[in-house]
Amino acid sequence: MTKECTLAEKILTGMRSILGDDSVNLHEPSFLGNESRYVEECLRSTNVASEGQFVSQFESMLAEYTGAQHVIAVSSGTAALHVALLLVGVSRDDEVLVPDLSFIATANSVAYCSAIPHFVDVEEEHCGIRVPKLQEYLESCSTQEDGVCVNRQTGRRIKAIIPMHAFGHPVDMDSLLEVAEKFSLDVVEDAAEALGSFYKGRHAGTLGHVGVLSFNGNKIITTGGGGALLTDDPELAANARHITRTAKLPHRWEYIHDQVGYNYRLPNLNAAIGVAQMEKLPLFLDRKRSLFAAYAKVIAPIQGVKLICESQDCRSNYWLQTLILDQDFQHERDSILSTTNDAGFVTRPAWQSLSRSKPFRASPSMKDMQSVDLVNRLINLPSSSFLG
Ligand SMILES: *Cc1c(COP(=O)(O)O)cnc(C)c1O
Repeated sequence: MTKECTLAEKILTGMRSILGDDSVNLHEPSFLGNESRYVEECLRSTNVASEGQFVSQFESMLAEYTGAQHVIAVSSGTAALHVALLLVGVSRDDEVLVPDLSFIATANSVAYCSAIPHFVDVEEEHCGIRVPKLQEYLESCSTQEDGVCVNRQTGRRIKAIIPMHAFGHPVDMDSLLEVAEKFSLDVVEDAAEALGSFYKGRHAGTLGHVGVLSFNGNKIITTGGGGALLTDDPELAANARHITRTAKLPHRWEYIHDQVGYNYRLPNLNAAIGVAQMEKLPLFLDRKRSLFAAYAKVIAPIQGVKLICESQDCRSNYWLQTLILDQDFQHERDSILSTTNDAGFVTRPAWQSLSRSKPFRASPSMKDMQSVDLVNRLINLPSSSFLG
């Protein structure tokens, strides 16, 4: 007779069969391509900072890959979100609908515009905004005044919504866009985690008015730090380029700035790394898909837990592999985290519910959100593209 195994032990055994016996981080980048070559080339050119060849090349590669008409590279995903919100017209005292389950940057970017994040619930299957509940909620909590959506309780304008494609799994954008249209909301897609993810054949971040990518060190490709705006709107693109480069008017020598701008451009040196990383994106995506398949095989027979899997009409980049504990097994989360971390496998819970986070506790939110419970049932597994 074998001894009864705990859920944590079963998961650890499964992980060992894939990851081996050495310690493994949650997510590490890999630089096995032309990174050093391009960085050296960039250094030799001495054009490390301002607009340069690698920035334009990186932007064209992203445009080609995602199908976006315009791509503006910037210094971080957070900066991209900030600018995206400004450019759709989010201003002081507006409310912006934000999923309760996201990285804090999504809410911070709203606060940078002196606007107020208003938290909405997520669904359990892919952790994206729960659209049917959103629709009911807006019907009950808002009114339309001359094509403007107004929060009845606060009297403030609800200007925009930020769907976030969690861990690389696209939100159900068709229904979300329908609700956004109905309630006159601008759509800024937080696709920070979703480079390489597609919804019905279209790249994440190209479905709303403007989308945002991140190239932080833990994302599917990295530039060290960096981000990008994606849009098909030429005017928005031109404005984005302008205000992320200190709003300086082109001139051979004069410094003339026509508004308060930002120093948000992506340095050429970082873009050099980005170009090399883009060359490897298809390989990273293949590897992550195989890693998902390997995890899925060992997790499937374990009762009480499942792995988040792409939906039928989407292709996920499988950026971070994510376990969801069944409700009855929620109390096992911490023992799974400690057992796996003790064994040298870095696993992590998802973020704190944003509506419960200190900076945003006073912000408006839907009542009875299942996200608050869901965050306690999520565990991210080691997901680097070279694993498995
Ligand atoms: C990483 C991330 C960001 C921010 O990107 P940075 O490049 O780190 O500023 C925003 N939103 C989500 C959901 C993210 O995961």
